[in-house]
Amino acid sequence: MLINADLHIHSRYSGATSDRMTISSLSVEAPRKGINVMATGDCLNANWLKEIKSCTIIDEGTLEMNHTRFILSTEVEDASRVHHLLYFPSFSAIETFKETIKSKSKNLETDGRPNVKMNGVELASLAKDVDALIGPAHAFTPWTAMYAYHPSLESCYGDLTPYISFVELGLSADTDYADTIQELHRLTFLTNSDCHSPHPVRLAREFTRFEVHEPTFEEIKKAILRTGGNKPVLNVGLPPQEGKYNESACISCFTHYQLDEAVKRRWKCSCGKRIKKGVRDRIREIATYKEPRHPEHRPPYLYLIPLSEIITKALGQHTPFTQSVTKRWEELINAFGSEITVLLDADLHEVARVTIPAITTAIQAFRDHKVIIIPGGGGKYGTIELPSDEEIIPVPLGPKNSQTSLLDY
Ligand SMILES: [Zn+2]
Ligand SMILES: [Zn+2]
Repeated sequence: MLINADLHIHSRYSGATSDRMTISSLSVEAPRKGINVMATGDCLNANWLKEIKSCTIIDEGTLEMNHTRFILSTEVEDASRVHHLLYFPSFSAIETFKETIKSKSKNLETDGRPNVKMNGVELASLAKDVDALIGPAHAFTPWTAMYAYHPSLESCYGDLTPYISFVELGLSADTDYADTIQELHRLTFLTNSDCHSPHPVRLAREFTRFEVHEPTFEEIKKAILRTGGNKPVLNVGLPPQEGKYNESACISCFTHYQLDEAVKRRWKCSCGKRIKKGVRDRIREIATYKEPRHPEHRPPYLYLIPLSEIITKALGQHTPFTQSVTKRWEELINAFGSEITVLLDADLHEVARVTIPAITTAIQAFRDHKVIIIPGGGGKYGTIELPSDEEIIPVPLGPKNSQTSLLDY
């Protein structure tokens, strides 16, 4: 069976997260985004763990609420501020891991994403001891990421490098970026939302589709390791330009710079503040190849723009967090079941029956790859613009028009 999984989120016990980050709201919102399996995030936090335990237990490493499956995960920050993602096979594995890092962390009980005074090698070794999977989170971002501090996997994980089975690409990168780096070729790429809110513009803005026999931890583990016929079959995510750190840019006034210009200026903006190196430029620095070379096992990458972002533009609004955007989003989800269906598969004539013409036209522009993306950088998300009216051909009457279907992959 095919499942869509968003395997990196944060609970309301992490910093700067929404109060609405509860297991129960995630279990309801996930299917509306087309997601079957979520990672719990923050599973080392006792309060969050209590909430996780309110789910129905399917097996040692798998839980369920409202037909949404959950697997046990956390993110930790190591002594060099590098973020690692971990997936645990059971509650007892979590307890053992926690016991070992307890003396090395001051905020284990107070933060969802603890800081641990250990390096990547030590963390990977502990993960291996309890059969947890571990890999770098948002590997290329300029803060708190593996390639921000290390030139290679080996530099981060040392002898344990062969134990690393996946890398999370992060919002500002895609498969084409990452496959210019030869050492990543053997790894499975995960695309996850890393969301701090269950709002549909954040939740599952990136996810991975896996081929598994059952939606359980053990089966997902096999898919990440690509054994027993299980595997990732599709990475889905924002166009990398939409990410906050795609291009090199000032962290204060958000002026964008080309790499050579930033170097010449010694990473100082004309406003006096710091220019942060973008993911695109960082990858150019460490790339083995000029052009991506995809290994045979690499699945395709599908670009998705959150429906609420498309609706926001169609309504001429500035933020997706308004009642009118929510109302339009909900009427489409109620009619078609999930956001993925609306974005990719629903017949546009049917869509037109449910919503206003401006939104139908905007969805069509997305399907036709006509949405314009203005790159993000310096900590500010990229933005989208809809093409001008003359560039959009109205929805033709007659048979269902051709569209990029998720089912084609
Ligand atoms: Zn992180
Ligand atoms: Zn500036």
